[in-house]
Amino acid sequence: MLIKEKSKSLFAKAKKLIPGGVNSPVRAFKAVGGDPLFIKSAKGAYLYDEDGNKYVELINSWGPMILGHANEEIEHAVIETIKKSPSFGAPTDAEVNVAELIIDMVPSIEQVRMVNSGTEATMSAIRLARGFTGRDKIIKFEGCYHGHGDSFLIAAGSGVATMGTPDSPGVTKGTAADTLTAPYNNLDAVEELVQKNKDQIAAIIIEPVAGNMGCVLPKKGYLEGLRKICDNHGIIYIFDEVMTGFRLAKGGAQEVFNVMPDLTTLGKIIGGGMPVGAYGGKKEIMKYVSPEGPVYQAGTLSGNPIAMSAGFVMLNHLNTHGEIYSNLDDIATRIINGFNVNLSKVGKNYTMNSIGSMLSLFFTENEVSDFESAKTSDTDLFGRYFNAMLENGVYIAPSQFESLFLSTSIDERIADLIIEANLKSLERIL
Ligand SMILES: *Cc1c(COP(=O)(O)O)cnc(C)c1O
Repeated sequence: MLIKEKSKSLFAKAKKLIPGGVNSPVRAFKAVGGDPLFIKSAKGAYLYDEDGNKYVELINSWGPMILGHANEEIEHAVIETIKKSPSFGAPTDAEVNVAELIIDMVPSIEQVRMVNSGTEATMSAIRLARGFTGRDKIIKFEGCYHGHGDSFLIAAGSGVATMGTPDSPGVTKGTAADTLTAPYNNLDAVEELVQKNKDQIAAIIIEPVAGNMGCVLPKKGYLEGLRKICDNHGIIYIFDEVMTGFRLAKGGAQEVFNVMPDLTTLGKIIGGGMPVGAYGGKKEIMKYVSPEGPVYQAGTLSGNPIAMSAGFVMLNHLNTHGEIYSNLDDIATRIINGFNVNLSKVGKNYTMNSIGSMLSLFFTENEVSDFESAKTSDTDLFGRYFNAMLENGVYIAPSQFESLFLSTSIDERIADLIIEANLKSLERIL
């Protein structure tokens, strides 16, 4: 059994001071049982908690740490930048360099604005889409997460064309009414929504590969089909690539699937572990952003020098080391093959979805192609699997509805440790 004394006492104190003891709900282990581990440090593929336990980790700060933890190049850039003062609130060379790299790497982006989180990026992108089109409504997909902006905290109703109902108290009915939802991978549902709300839809926003209901891939022709609907109806097509950007390829999912959105939102990897987001796209749309255009959007710490220096090193590294993506693919394939062998050993046919360095093991034998099918997973069993993996030295995301992320720090030896932990954990829980 893991010793968790220090984490336990820190959590007891944190609960008195911070709602639920955490600064972001997913950290609380509520979906899997038990108390969260307090992390002291990390290096490469390993996390160390306050009690001195060591884990191979597959969360990577929910995506950003694609080069593994405490990368020395990034560390150096951040330290040198801090010495010159962490913030000016005035333009810097560094933010221009980052913008140039993003535009170079992400195929559809012609201009980009930096913000401080993925949430800010998506909120700003839909404001821009609304300002540009003069329309109010947006379409999002059931099971897709776009940060905690009011407009996105909407659950799908049971019927395809039903009005959104707020998923959280505090989201007004008015806001909810402007967010329409459709099941992922269903073009007809979107077509129907668009017909019923003619000339009222400003934007369709989608995770081009969903990572927030577990890893769910777009079916063949789906992203292209949405592109057509947007073109036919003057709707702004937004790819939320906060998770997939710089992870699936240098140019994100849009490069992999060769489908170009009008606007793209970015975050996570873009900051190299610092809090950053960005949104960008076609110049004719981006020129509507203040101070060039009328759509207001601002930020005291936007383009912060420390974040820009970390982001620049991260993106530059990815841009000049194209082999990273095929290496990540190879490690992912090794892990997936290993898991599949393990599943056959324990006589289960659970579903594995994956693309590049994102993967999910769903505790269901159904194909998982949308939120409905993802929800057929046995989440109690997942909770036991999660805790068994921890005991076996592997820290995965504490929810069935999250993707695992690989980093370049996971070599074949570490991949084999993960595969071994998977077998032991499956044997324990089944
Ligand atoms: C994480 C995430 C967000 C939110 O980003 P934050 O930096 O947590 O605000 C938005 N969209 C997607 C697809 C994400 O994965």
